[in-house]
Amino acid sequence: MSGMVLKGKDADWEIICGLEIHCQIISKSKMFSGASTHYGSEVNQNVSFVDAGMPGQLPTLNEQCVRQAIKTGLGLNAQINKYSEFARKNYFYADLPQGYQISQFKYPIVGEGYVKIELENGENKNIGIERLHIEQDAGKSIHDISPSKTFIDLNRAGVGLMEIVTKPDFRSPEEAGAFLRKLRSIVRYLGTCDGNMDEGSMRCDVNVSVRKVGEQDFRTRNEMKNVNSVKFVMQAIEFEARRQIEVYDAGGKIEQETRQFDPSTGQTKVMRKKEFAHDYRYFPEPDLLPLVLSDELIEQIKSEMVELPDAKKERFVTELGLTAYDAGVICENKEMADFFEEAARGHDAKKTANWLMGDFFALLNERKLELSESPISAKNLGALVELISQNVINGKTAKEVFAIMADTKESPEKIVEERGLRQVTDSSAIEKVIDEVIAANPDNAAAYKAGKVNLMGWFVGQVMKASAGKANPAMVNEILRRKLN
Ligand code: MN
Repeated sequence: MSGMVLKGKDADWEIICGLEIHCQIISKSKMFSGASTHYGSEVNQNVSFVDAGMPGQLPTLNEQCVRQAIKTGLGLNAQINKYSEFARKNYFYADLPQGYQISQFKYPIVGEGYVKIELENGENKNIGIERLHIEQDAGKSIHDISPSKTFIDLNRAGVGLMEIVTKPDFRSPEEAGAFLRKLRSIVRYLGTCDGNMDEGSMRCDVNVSVRKVGEQDFRTRNEMKNVNSVKFVMQAIEFEARRQIEVYDAGGKIEQETRQFDPSTGQTKVMRKKEFAHDYRYFPEPDLLPLVLSDELIEQIKSEMVELPDAKKERFVTELGLTAYDAGVICENKEMADFFEEAARGHDAKKTANWLMGDFFALLNERKLELSESPISAKNLGALVELISQNVINGKTAKEVFAIMADTKESPEKIVEERGLRQVTDSSAIEKVIDEVIAANPDNAAAYKAGKVNLMGWFVGQVMKASAGKANPAMVNEILRRKLN
């Protein structure tokens, strides 16, 4: 059980949580206009008459956004609906000049699906997807330029969004965190959303209720809007669940509310009560025809699908012999998985994974580098592993070579040749060093023979030192044992 049980006054409680995630679609232009979606442009530079809500302007559907939604639906193992409709979601706000958002309501483009998550205890769980619909984003209100005025930037108005709604399947903050990381990984693999929660291109609304363990029905839930990091989503779920249990324990009732999570306090506070809840008066969008997809289009997009993290992980485990954990870490990021595959091609995959997750990750971390900025190429990392496999260098020398590679970007072969780091596998040469070490330390040799067998490690150390670290450790061990016994 990965679910979290919370102790109340006189009962155990469980968390019920569902998520709604808005993902900005990767597309050069907006969903219903030709304006650019470029992030970071001057304010109000990417605004067409359609985006500004000018009377008489008609929306034109961007096919690229539709393709991206279908691709994402397939990535969520979901039903693609060949018939869907656009609807107007009516509300007034200054950053929504049309006075309504074009969205989908009764007939979304994607129906039910699921996403597999892996939990820390090693268990897997499928999280149900309720639907995915496409809609346009609103503009941005800027409140911090003037003390008395609000400014509106419409660059974001009309950018395509996918709203992904899960079933209320989460039973702990950990499950929600694992899901968001998996979803982010999937959309990044697909190239349908960049998944940057801190830039707002992936935004998460969190629905939480609690019930006593054993209860079947759901109790009243609360919603927290636009929580903008995985960590905050997890904190918000736990705080809100504990708060609700306290209210119940004190004999109170949970009212349906929209609440806001404050990262600085780790708490949620009420934004609006249900009596002010919106009635959006949805009705079919009269300016757009229903969206009808052909089998050919769906099949074509299926044929263009990249290998997704779950499938890649499975392949790394079964074909390359990686542990499930290592494969999971490497496959979370497509660039990393590609880098690994290139490095491991023709070499020992398990050893390559160890070097990647050990020294290589540490190097990137320490120097705060992106993978693309790595001084060590995939090819050179693989070549280093090969030198170890072929007994050209030992593990200790490999660390030294790795450090030089990180500083010089040179190939490991070149470094080993130029610096004479090839390990000594000539048994007569190793024997000679061992004889010298034993001769120089007669007391320890005698003590070893008298039963202090843990001196073996000390002797190995002395021999390695005397050979400048280049002796083959296995041979050193074997010859030493023979000589001392
Ligand atoms: Mn929405």
